[in-house]
Amino acid sequence: MAKLTVSDLDVKDKKVLMRVDFNVPVKNGVIGDDNRIVAALPTIKYIIEHDGKAILFSHLGRVKTEDDKKALTMRPVAQRLSDLLGKPVTFVPATRGKQLEDAIADMKDGDVLLFENTRFEDLDGKKESGNDQELGQYWASLGDEFVNDAFGTAHRSHASNVGIATAMKAANKPVAAGFLMEKEIKFLGNAVDNPKHPFVAILGGAKVSDKIGVIDHLLDKADKVIIGGGMTYTFYAAKGMKIGTSLVEKDKVGLAKEILDKAGDKIVLPSDSVVAEKFDNDVPHKVVEGDIPDGYMALDIGPKSIKEFEDVLKDAKTVVWNGPMGVFEMSNYAEGTLEIGKFLGTLTDATTIVGGGDSTAAVKQLGVGDKLTHISTGGGASLEYLEGKELPGIAAISNK
Ligand code: AMP
Repeated sequence: MAKLTVSDLDVKDKKVLMRVDFNVPVKNGVIGDDNRIVAALPTIKYIIEHDGKAILFSHLGRVKTEDDKKALTMRPVAQRLSDLLGKPVTFVPATRGKQLEDAIADMKDGDVLLFENTRFEDLDGKKESGNDQELGQYWASLGDEFVNDAFGTAHRSHASNVGIATAMKAANKPVAAGFLMEKEIKFLGNAVDNPKHPFVAILGGAKVSDKIGVIDHLLDKADKVIIGGGMTYTFYAAKGMKIGTSLVEKDKVGLAKEILDKAGDKIVLPSDSVVAEKFDNDVPHKVVEGDIPDGYMALDIGPKSIKEFEDVLKDAKTVVWNGPMGVFEMSNYAEGTLEIGKFLGTLTDATTIVGGGDSTAAVKQLGVGDKLTHISTGGGASLEYLEGKELPGIAAISNK
């Protein structure tokens, strides 16, 4: 079902409430990576360039005590946003009340306002995270239209995304996706629900247990599912192979066996691995085929596997990738992830999507992200999307 997007709205003279994902790293009042703020700019600019009033709000970290408020105020975010937009941003240090309402009443078309961290509302009975109905209704009362651009929280049902959306719709006010949200729905949604074939999924990372929902769902949809990373060795164990001291989830070996039986030759496992005696970059390491020798742990896929995976990928029209192929944080075990990332960049005829979390960090750190079609901004949200679950934040957006 196609969702309403910000470009479908008439924002002129309107008070446009916009849920952004400004959950950026802040240390001693200084913002580290401002990617998430930058990612929201197209939607904010669209609203103000079309003479709307942009009233922004986001959560930042987890607010558990009164003391947390000092470190988790949105004030520095408002300053950075103002620098990026090249215009003033009114910061309101409140999540409700007269000061906020007066500031909104004073806004002119094209103005931008950011109010305080929505999770400050969690101190009083988890009103934000618990999706308190009254809070959603209050926020909805502050504006004429609601735009949700926070994909990273779309898998959560909070007052600032689902609560407000529900109240807006009940009041016959439109609820639309921002451009960032629209892009995530388009690429992740299309890849899973309507992929061009051959569709190949690459799943890596540490644990089978984290990815079981994704494996299950994508086995139904994809033509091939490539498995790499630490979870490979739970599958090796399921095949009765030796795994040395490699990462293994003993209680998931049975499940891995069931998956292998069900999947037949759809699942592609690495045929060789880079192994070391310790989980350490600076110890001797070597490539072994098949079984992992006693006393060794597998920390990356080997060169033969890279070639075999590339062979599976070369004709793909859709590729979804979630989870690194090895311990990419250590240079000696980054090769598998790096080479697969580089190879995906050469597939100009395919839609190549990185599904968030550690995989996003990996492609960024290794500098292979530029040539891929889409790198998801959501970790948990993209994983749940790939599991085929309905995300409440997206479900709450009006249909066209
Ligand atoms: P995930 O969050 O499940 O995507 O897992 C990502 C983590 O898996 C990264 O921190 C990698 O270092 C780790 N990882 C990948 N391959 C291996 C491996 N062979 N052994 C241990 N950890 C691994």
